[in-house]
Amino acid sequence: MAELKIRVRFAPSPTGPLHIGGVRTALYNYLFARKLGGKMILRIEDTDQNRYVDGAEKYITESLDWCGIQFDEDIVKGGPYGPYRQSERKSIYLDYAKELVDKGYAYYAFDTPEELDEMRERGKDKDVHLSQYGPFTRLGLKNSLSLPADEVRQRLASGETYVIRIRIPENEEIHVNDLIRGDVVVQSSSLDDKVLFKSDGWPTYHLANIVDDHLMEISHVIRGEEWLPSAPLHVLLYRYFGWGESMPKFAHLPLLLKPDGNGKLSKRDGDRLGFPVFPLQWTDPVTKDISSGYRESGYFPEAFVNMLAFLGWNPGSEQELFTMDELIHEFSLDRVGKHGSKFDPEKARWYNHQYLVKKPEFELVGFLKRELEKRALHFEDRYVASVIHLIKDRANLIPDLWKNSWFFFVPPETYDEPFVLKVWSPVPVVSGLLVSFLEEVKHVVDWEHDPLHSFIQDFITGKNIKMGQLMTPLRLLMVGNNQGPGIMDIAITLGREEFLKRIETGLKKLPR
Ligand code: GLU
Repeated sequence: MAELKIRVRFAPSPTGPLHIGGVRTALYNYLFARKLGGKMILRIEDTDQNRYVDGAEKYITESLDWCGIQFDEDIVKGGPYGPYRQSERKSIYLDYAKELVDKGYAYYAFDTPEELDEMRERGKDKDVHLSQYGPFTRLGLKNSLSLPADEVRQRLASGETYVIRIRIPENEEIHVNDLIRGDVVVQSSSLDDKVLFKSDGWPTYHLANIVDDHLMEISHVIRGEEWLPSAPLHVLLYRYFGWGESMPKFAHLPLLLKPDGNGKLSKRDGDRLGFPVFPLQWTDPVTKDISSGYRESGYFPEAFVNMLAFLGWNPGSEQELFTMDELIHEFSLDRVGKHGSKFDPEKARWYNHQYLVKKPEFELVGFLKRELEKRALHFEDRYVASVIHLIKDRANLIPDLWKNSWFFFVPPETYDEPFVLKVWSPVPVVSGLLVSFLEEVKHVVDWEHDPLHSFIQDFITGKNIKMGQLMTPLRLLMVGNNQGPGIMDIAITLGREEFLKRIETGLKKLPR
């Protein structure tokens, strides 16, 4: 037997921004292909002209690129099975639909939308089979199975619009062999005669998807669970075309669920609970509504990918942090679960934190420098790196770097009121303490940790106070609030001059 070439595809429709569930599908396809030395293909399924959204295709490719998911064949690179955009393949599909008509597996239908409504109305509240186009209704409708052959020829010759529908068999068991779910059996009578080719001259998703998977020699179809109901229809199409032998293997991935596990994760959950459900920020071209993205919220792509990989797959060990190469090495469909995976926004932040703390300081300098440039501030890389060293342990997302460190670059303009009330009282005692501290600390010239520390020790011993009684008001003067690393670290990093200046400023601005 010839060795099976591994070829998988990610086949998004450009109907809007790519949901993180879609990114996960692309990721699993990518890991699978790379692991087995196969090819990864991007195919844009844009045959539904009514749902086409401007900018969506670009958004999709940019998102995948950000994640580091690479394609061997795609709309830009091309490849031996192109074109890879279905709209550019439009001319091939009608002949395939007609081939099924000729073989007796599909038929022309001429019903108007009103007639279809009437059918649904007739079947309503009765048997579901009577409200759908299928074995139980088709002979009472207007199609090439119910009308005399002459009339059909005439209608077609006169240019009357038609659709082509698949002829679903009555009472047959259809087996979908799924790599994740095993043998899934569906009764054909539960299916309807789906449209394969539309009256507007475009194929439907079902037809174009099967024809292209076949022509592109796709070996495995790895996609979301929401496509499982379509799989029996797809199995029939492969059989009817005579492609049963080379039918791809199916793997339907579990759904991504809301954090509470109740239903599919949606954009609304993200809005409600304050986390993005899209990889990149998306601006709706019509409403101009902006949806937040992981990239803009300050996630690293490696962390995002690592987190996504674990939503439905596990390595069978305790290890949670994986680079893309490690994921490729470990990935297998055997370890993808059947059950939906709850999305956990807290865990997403945890992943990012892990990547952030692991990064060397100098790799993070650029993120802070961008903030400094916005404010026309200039600091040396070495200084910025030393600040990052002090604060990164408490940062989860990239913006936390600035939020946790701004006071190393600019003095506080205001003092947090509740904090003032708490630590700057009784007023004359605290301010008096700081006045004498300022007088004495001025004489410390060797501005290093050890000499400064022993000076402070001596000072509090002399005053008979506890460390906190000095350090907390000092924090107020240095930071303006209760934030930040240890005061000793702040003092050394800011330097002697700035340290003294902030005490002086505070003593001028705060009650004495
Ligand atoms: N175009 C479909 C989508 O938008 C592809 C489904 C499939 O992979 O077959 O997800």
